[in-house]
Amino acid sequence: MVVEVINTGTELLLGEILNTNFQYLSRHLNSLGFDVLYQTTIGDNPVRMRAAIEHALERADIVITSGGLGPTRGDITKEVVMEICGLEGYTDFSTLCRLYDFLAAKGVEPTPNNEKQAIVPFGADVLENPAGTAPGLWLEHQGKIIILLPGPPHEVEAVCETQLWPRLQKNFPDNGVIISRTLRLKGIGESAVATKIDDLIVNQSNPTLAIYARHGQILIRITTKTKTPEEAKALIGDMEAQLRARLEQYIYGADNDSVASVLGTKLNLLGKTIAFAESCSGGLASSLITDIPGSSEYLKGSVVSYTNEVKENVLGVKPETLKKFGAVSSQCACEMAAGVRRLMNSDYGISITGNAGPSPSEGKPVGLVYIAVANREIVYWQEHHFDGNRTENKLRIAEAAISTLIEKLQQL
Ligand code: AMP
Ligand code: MG
Repeated sequence: MVVEVINTGTELLLGEILNTNFQYLSRHLNSLGFDVLYQTTIGDNPVRMRAAIEHALERADIVITSGGLGPTRGDITKEVVMEICGLEGYTDFSTLCRLYDFLAAKGVEPTPNNEKQAIVPFGADVLENPAGTAPGLWLEHQGKIIILLPGPPHEVEAVCETQLWPRLQKNFPDNGVIISRTLRLKGIGESAVATKIDDLIVNQSNPTLAIYARHGQILIRITTKTKTPEEAKALIGDMEAQLRARLEQYIYGADNDSVASVLGTKLNLLGKTIAFAESCSGGLASSLITDIPGSSEYLKGSVVSYTNEVKENVLGVKPETLKKFGAVSSQCACEMAAGVRRLMNSDYGISITGNAGPSPSEGKPVGLVYIAVANREIVYWQEHHFDGNRTENKLRIAEAAISTLIEKLQQL
């Protein structure tokens, strides 16, 4: 089944908002075994929207739109589709009642233009919207299916989860499933990974393999298309075992794992605690750690020691160290890590000091970063060079610090 997704809204074409609806829709449609072969973004212009939908109906079996079901004159998707299909509409009273109830629950007075949202083309099915006023619609036209969805992402998700996905699965039971699993690697480069699994890549058919580099990590995605989820899981399990046989030491997690979640699991197992002294990462490493529920078990506290004054007065970095080597130095990193560990009375202290950009400081280049990990006896340090922009660098630096600690937990 070929699907085309049409996202409507002039704001998408102006680049004011990111088309996240498409990402959500295509991910799910692919996993349900549909072939999403086309995507069109079109502004709120009736002539161009009509042409785009007509074109989609020529090349796809199912056309799914998002946006333009709101109450204002600028919301025209339903009207354009009704014109193409030559359909009149009626006011659907159960939709109208739900709409009034929805607004009343929020304490919002309905306006006359809300009624426009309860107009349903003859022959169309309503896909109830539990999260908003505009329902989705499902209609069939000359052997094709046209599905209209609202624009706000949380409404799209609500309609799809409760209405659309179950209905598509029911109507297309033989579509099969596409299931993916992603292995997450660190401490190895993209080309080295590609070399180690070259024969698996050359011989791939089902599952397929794809390698990506992201934020200094390597992801290997295993994707399979089968009739049942059980078959998919068996094929993926087999491929994962082959990949692990070659790359186990670099694989730190899978799917939605993050370096922070993996570190959390390890610290919980060991019963150890940590504290960060962060300079150029501005507290981001600590923030990533606290994204994980239960992190209060192991994160004692952190210091964002942005100035030399705080490095000296709070963390106890020696003035001579700062004078002689500067704040961006291995010596400073080591004293910061040992200092924050003492201060917070944790098992490990982790420090980050460097230059996130955009211009050199202390004569040190942009992207030069020192990370140190201290326990009660030893301080270990590493030098890194990052080459992204300031925002990318901050994330990569924070993740590198967490990764370094994961590695060092085994040794220190
Ligand atoms: P609309 O129903 O077209 O008025 O859209 C309502 C709001 O939903 C817009 O103002 C956007 O903030 C959001 N929205 C619409 N389409 C998309 C899309 N493709 N991706 C993400 N957000 C969207
Ligand atoms: Mg719109």
